[in-house]
Amino acid sequence: MNSPHMSLEEFRQHGHAAVDWICEYLRTIETRPVRSTVAPGEIRASLPASAPEHAEDFSACLRDFENIILPGITHWQSPNFFAYFPCNGSPPAILGELLSAGLGVQGMLWQTSPACTELETHVLDWLVDLLGLPAFFKSDSTGGGVIQDTASSSALCAILAARERATAGRTNRSGIDRRLIAYTSEQAHSSIEKGLRVAGIGSDQLRLMPVDERCAIGADALAEAMARDRRAGAVPFFVCATIGTTAANGIDPIRRVGELTQRYGAWLHVDAAMCGTAMLCPEFRIHNDGVDLADSWCFNPHKWMFTSFDCDCLWVRRRADLIGALSILPDYLRNAATESGAVIDYRDWQIPLGRRFRALKLWFVLRCYGAAGLRQLVREHVRLARLFADLVRADERFELALDPPLNLVCFRRRGEDAINQRLIDKLNAGGKIYLSHALIHGRFALRMSIGGTWCEERHVHQAWRFISETEP
Ligand code: PLP
Repeated sequence: MNSPHMSLEEFRQHGHAAVDWICEYLRTIETRPVRSTVAPGEIRASLPASAPEHAEDFSACLRDFENIILPGITHWQSPNFFAYFPCNGSPPAILGELLSAGLGVQGMLWQTSPACTELETHVLDWLVDLLGLPAFFKSDSTGGGVIQDTASSSALCAILAARERATAGRTNRSGIDRRLIAYTSEQAHSSIEKGLRVAGIGSDQLRLMPVDERCAIGADALAEAMARDRRAGAVPFFVCATIGTTAANGIDPIRRVGELTQRYGAWLHVDAAMCGTAMLCPEFRIHNDGVDLADSWCFNPHKWMFTSFDCDCLWVRRRADLIGALSILPDYLRNAATESGAVIDYRDWQIPLGRRFRALKLWFVLRCYGAAGLRQLVREHVRLARLFADLVRADERFELALDPPLNLVCFRRRGEDAINQRLIDKLNAGGKIYLSHALIHGRFALRMSIGGTWCEERHVHQAWRFISETEP
């Protein structure tokens, strides 16, 4: 009987073809319509109703990939993609993903691939220095870093660690304490509320604080809310501050929030999902002032740091808090290395047991760009955002919704929301660019999010020309 496996010779041949395909794709990506325009159900209608009974040739898979799948792809890597936040890939990261898949490593325990764990620990220690984070986040101190899939998972892990710390481990044993209260700004990412719900702490136990004119959390309102809750016998246990909110890039005053958090013995989590990358540049660290008060801090290299999705880095001040909340040791995972206490088992630092070898792509990115290369690109993106903001300011038909602190520009046509809704619909319909929107202080704004791997000054000028010449 023939083996159903693809032979290694065929794999070599198709592998080369796939890498060639990616090169050509990236080389010509800006000629493609940025956003897919397929109708709901269109892709499925092109697929056979049932899975193939007999093996097909891989070249048929690649052909259908081009013909059926590509029309349903929104090209996040296009330099004309300015929507949401970037979700960057880069050649070294893609190769890291490929090699990681080639190894097929599952790194749940140190023992299941020591290099998977040790490279992760090492690269996250490097990043503490590169981002100017406090030394207590390092593995040779009380803390340590771990790669999660997303910032949502980091928030959930931080919430669980905070919950157990606040209840001395009682919640894990006997269920939720209804007195626990969490705080964040009304502009914080929805993953904070979701994480609280998953942790059994309902939305009723979350206080969403109003923001100021710069979309940063109102620290006075936070102080009042925490004091009020404490007087009522509740337990303020968790505060999330954001560096770079999703809608408008609002930056919470970490130090002020951290001082309040400390006063109540609560946990301070800093969500720097997108803007954390800016901390590579010392001149932007002003936005991280107060990080020395944080219990946990996370950012997504898969957003602005050229590391293919998924890759979120989470650091905790005291790893014992995280491990205490998440560790369960069934007999089948017992092993001598774990019992020696000399190794890290990252399964205890996350929700799932199994884990991918994500550190490989991050390591490749750090080595192939170098810190200097990364800083150069971050500074360039911030420069481009400022340039775009200047173009908006110079056109009296437009206004900025906010002064951009870093690489996100929120702007609008002067006038009603409906005009701006029509404008963005027209802009996005043609496939030339892709922008998304936000409600800022209740008013519609367009978001120009700059930070794509391949975005250059000419793309920003081109986008502005198109925006300013489109009549809503
Ligand atoms: N936090 C912020 C500030 C974000 O902007 C986002 C996503 O855009 C998230 C968290 C969630 O990110 P993830 O998809 O990694 O969970």
